[in-house]
Amino acid sequence: MAKRVFWEQKTLAEMSSEEWESLCDGCAKCCLHKLEDEDTGDVYYTKVVCRYMDDNCRCTEYQRRNELVPNCVWLRPEDVAEFHWLPSTCAYRLVAEKKPLPDWHPLISGAPETVHQTGVSIKGRALSEEYVHPDGYEEHIIHWVE
Ligand code: SF4
Ligand code: SF4
Repeated sequence: MAKRVFWEQKTLAEMSSEEWESLCDGCAKCCLHKLEDEDTGDVYYTKVVCRYMDDNCRCTEYQRRNELVPNCVWLRPEDVAEFHWLPSTCAYRLVAEKKPLPDWHPLISGAPETVHQTGVSIKGRALSEEYVHPDGYEEHIIHWVE
C-alpha cells in the first residue's frame, strides 16, 4: 500500500513549522504586486516584484520582512479562507482545497529547481519595484500567473 505523505494526511493547521515551510514551492508569485478591483474584489497580478526578491526567487530579507515590508505576505493556517487570491499553483492553496501537489513541486521532484525549470516561478519574468512608479503598476498587469 502506498504511504501517505504529510500534506495528504494533515490539514494545514496540523502541520509542524518545518512541514509548513517545506510546502512552499519557491515560485515567488506571492511577492508580486497585485491590484484589486474595488467593485468586484477581483485580484490582478502584475510583474512588479518586491525589491527584496533576488534573481533566484529568494527573499533577501526573510528574517526582517515584516519589519521592512508592512504588507509582506505572511500566510497562516488560520487565514486559509483567504487563500483564494493565491495563484492556483500555490501549494498552500492546493492543500487547503484538498488538491494534489503537482509533479514539479520540490516535495515530489526532490529538487528545488523544478519550479523554475517548468516555468512556474517568476524567475526571469519579474520587474523590481525599484524601477516602477507605484502609479504605473497597472501597465504591468500579467496573465501568466495562472
Ligand atoms: S505562491 Fe505559495 S508556493 Fe509560491 S512562493 Fe508564495 S507561498 Fe510559496
Ligand atoms: S519582503 Fe516579503 S514580499 Fe518582499 S520578497 Fe521578502 S517575502 Fe516577498
